[in-house]
Amino acid sequence: MKITRLDLDDTGSPEGLITKILKAEPDLPIPVPVEELAQCFDITDIAVLTTEGYEGGLITDDCKSEGVILVNATARRGRRRFTIGHELGHFLIPTHRPAKSGQFLCSREDMRRWSAQENDAYARMEIEANRFSALLLMPPPKLRIAMGKFGEPDLAHITQLADHFDVSKEPAARAYATYHDQPIAIAVAKDGIVLRIYKQTKFPRIGVSYGAPVPRNSLFHYAANSGQKITDIRQNGAELWLESDWGKRLPTLYEQVFYQQEGFALIMLWVDADNDCDEEEIDDDEGRTSKERLRFRRDVHRR
Ligand SMILES: [Zn+2]
Repeated sequence: MKITRLDLDDTGSPEGLITKILKAEPDLPIPVPVEELAQCFDITDIAVLTTEGYEGGLITDDCKSEGVILVNATARRGRRRFTIGHELGHFLIPTHRPAKSGQFLCSREDMRRWSAQENDAYARMEIEANRFSALLLMPPPKLRIAMGKFGEPDLAHITQLADHFDVSKEPAARAYATYHDQPIAIAVAKDGIVLRIYKQTKFPRIGVSYGAPVPRNSLFHYAANSGQKITDIRQNGAELWLESDWGKRLPTLYEQVFYQQEGFALIMLWVDADNDCDEEEIDDDEGRTSKERLRFRRDVHRR
């Protein structure tokens, strides 16, 4: 790769930087060679971070003439790649300044920040570094191509995306929820508690807050002992997850669960906005799964 920091023109936003990188390296390989790219941008070394309680770090001088990225030694490959992207973001975004001179130190929580109060300058830097990393590892034009092959939402695609871009499942899930052309949201749960929810702006308002238990009648609970790692897609009560405006009918909601290690799970919520079609006709045909019914309904509409 021939790209250098000169190609970036002191661009200040994650989106602007990614645009410049893709312009200079239109044939950027996938998975993105993040370590090689860091070298092109004057990162002289990627070393082990020994400071307890942190996931990544960046050592650099005040004018950021060069830098060394530090990564938690126990991080698995996908997480390591995300951390390198995050620290590279701090290095390349001109306004990012460390709290302590010469060294950024970033925690696991920092790597999961996607929103902050307007006046929280520290959190805003972390968010920008995360956005940079996610965009770098899954560049939107490449993501659109990969997702264009998928069709209707299905959590099985998350594994394919994670493999394709060599990232962990959670950033893959976030990208999937954000870029899918269907109105979906993906909740991340651990031990039955909702930690985070990734969703598009067009997705209806969710009434379950972070730190709350997964709703009692969610598929998450009643498929837990089914032996399926990824469940079928099932229709469920929209009121479980969605906030309702008085007098307004809620859309039809579908759930799918992807059980993972250490008590983690991804729960996909998919709303069917045009739910006022002729359900009588379709419900005649029992024995179909909700997903099949939905497909059938869509086919009927297309005809
Ligand atoms: Zn950071």
